Amino acid sequence: MNIKLYELREDEKLALAEVMARLGAGAASSEIEVDAVAHELTLESAGDLRGFDAVVISGRSAMTAEVLDRLAELGVKYLATRTVGVDHIDVACAHELGLRVCNTGYPPEGVAEFAVMLMLIVLRRYKSTLWRQQVNDYSLGGLEGRELGRLTVGIVGTGRIGQQVARILGGFGSKVLGYDPYPSDAARAAGIEYVPLEELYRRSDVVTLHVPLTEKNRGMIDAEAINQMRDGVVLVNVSRGELIDVAAVTSAIEFEKIGALAMDVFADEGGIYHESRVNDIIRNRDMAYLRQFPNVVLTPHMAFYTDTNVNSMVEQGVQGVIAMAEGPGSWASEV
Ligand code: NAD
Repeated sequence: MNIKLYELREDEKLALAEVMARLGAGAASSEIEVDAVAHELTLESAGDLRGFDAVVISGRSAMTAEVLDRLAELGVKYLATRTVGVDHIDVACAHELGLRVCNTGYPPEGVAEFAVMLMLIVLRRYKSTLWRQQVNDYSLGGLEGRELGRLTVGIVGTGRIGQQVARILGGFGSKVLGYDPYPSDAARAAGIEYVPLEELYRRSDVVTLHVPLTEKNRGMIDAEAINQMRDGVVLVNVSRGELIDVAAVTSAIEFEKIGALAMDVFADEGGIYHESRVNDIIRNRDMAYLRQFPNVVLTPHMAFYTDTNVNSMVEQGVQGVIAMAEGPGSWASEV
């Protein structure tokens, strides 16, 4: 099997070498070859794919109908993404073209810990504290915080990450509410009390999003949703930027309806996050405007970025396409 892996970062090289060694890939007797490149898979770069059965991408290669059509035409049959989210892939189109697709199911702990860290950062006003330290201002005025263990946290989306957030919050002693169209006993066992979404918004001091980006979920945190939330609510989003209506959220920050916002993701973050753009003119007004508020913390889509997850993403990307080739149902995270 010939596999082309795109978007290989420096920090993934060791993990890839280890996976290849385990598979015996590249050895004279091996049936598995992995060719890895740093650039993204695009319509233009797909040109060199003839002879490859499978591609492994990450989150920056947009798999539009046009690109997928080209892959199918070149004989590619399997596509794996080293991300949990699959919103950069037109999955329905891939299926129509006979392409099999999988994502990775790396452990949820790293992302969940990051979400809780963001809650703590905004609740303890650490952004302002950090700013002040730069100018030797060690005063306390305006920095009084709130204790997570005394608050009610509403988890929207009680899948793998949402459940892990609940388990961590259990240690703090927080009251944990949850909403999901598919409630689960596993989530209840993690300490989540299911309530209707309106009730979650009404009762939660902190609202944290752990849902995938789908057409239905796009812009789900709009003015109507925000109006149902408590005054001074803390909103945390480590899922996808497009889940929020950025104009509505910005206005709610300006009028102090939202007390604090922490986001690890942002609409149109591609080409900005994960890049050094120090000398560039960046065209994302919403990001620049929101970033300047003392109660808004933006991180560059790095909740996933731990040693455990990097190894797991590379391993599962390569193993995913190999397993899919072994037959239907052979890989748990096929989508
Ligand atoms: P998951 O599939 O285990 O859980 C998602 C849950 O959301 C499911 O239970 C689903 O029923 C629920 N859901 C869908 N629409 C909903 C809605 N409108 N309201 C309430 N619940 C809804 O996924 P996961 O592993 O927990 O990951 C969640 C998301 O986190 C991913 O889709 C991805 O976009 C994001 N993510 C971000 C990072 C990062 O580095 N920032 C890393 C991993 C995942």
